[in-house]
Amino acid sequence: MTAPPTTEVFPIAAPWGRFALFSYLIDAPELAIVDTGVTASAANVPVELDKLGRRIEDVRWILLTHGHIDHVGGAHALWEATGRTARVVISKVDAHFLSSRRAHVDEALGLRGAYVDTAALEATKSAEVLEAISGEMEPTLTVADGDVLDLGGVSVRVVSIPGHTPGAVAYVVEGAEGGAQHVFVGDAAQCYGAASGFPGYEDPDAYRDSLGKVGALEPQHLYLGHPYRRADGTPFDVALDAEGAREALTASLTREAEIRATAARLDPVRSASAYSPFETYAADLGYTGDPTLEPSPFFTTLNGYIQTIGKEHS
Ligand SMILES: [Zn+2]
Repeated sequence: MTAPPTTEVFPIAAPWGRFALFSYLIDAPELAIVDTGVTASAANVPVELDKLGRRIEDVRWILLTHGHIDHVGGAHALWEATGRTARVVISKVDAHFLSSRRAHVDEALGLRGAYVDTAALEATKSAEVLEAISGEMEPTLTVADGDVLDLGGVSVRVVSIPGHTPGAVAYVVEGAEGGAQHVFVGDAAQCYGAASGFPGYEDPDAYRDSLGKVGALEPQHLYLGHPYRRADGTPFDVALDAEGAREALTASLTREAEIRATAARLDPVRSASAYSPFETYAADLGYTGDPTLEPSPFFTTLNGYIQTIGKEHS
């Protein structure tokens, strides 16, 4: 049996306001783009591919790690740019984010509506999805844990890693002897958070389990959705080697444990603070960011703990 070829991966940066977004090219016999940024990023991808000597028309796969706006927003435009020939792939669980702009508004209201001005949130999100999502579409293919895609001789395994969103998946480019040569996790390893300074996930238990799952893959290369930060505020690279991967996963688990310990007090109190009802939680965790900036990971994550721990106590 011959060993699978070594496959190269290239990050494609696409800034969007205060967010640093990244797509990736898997330079397999059948080219694949992992995550698509927003509408504006999608316009940049063909330009960046040209610089690498590759053409958007030759891209055969668009692989989406999860349904958030800044990952699926450019999918329709990129699919159009491939002459509608690329297969657009997302988990069945997150697929509604690809087919419905409104799903993003409903998600925000469901996760954070209890903590912010809901009318303002609905207005902000409704405007954002029009600008940032290039079009609504059905996926060509929905995937689940254990599925394997064939990129012309390069195998990509789908690993379910819920927590950040319910349908988040990792795409694992298999190397020799089944090792994990390249692992794309989207936003499933948040370290100490990105520019917002707080890690965001809906389901804390699932997030923690998924970090363990990614660690067990022992990735030779790990690719993050954004430049997440260390405890000292310095950013990780988005493309990490094996040692960097271990460091980022450990940082993610450490911060999760810190937030879990604080959230376990279960004493949210309404106050005039922008962090209300989690004013003391923010102080304990040293979080000084603006919790109202969308998409607020502070409220999403603490809401997750309140739901989870609240259920265990009732
Ligand atoms: Zn995300």
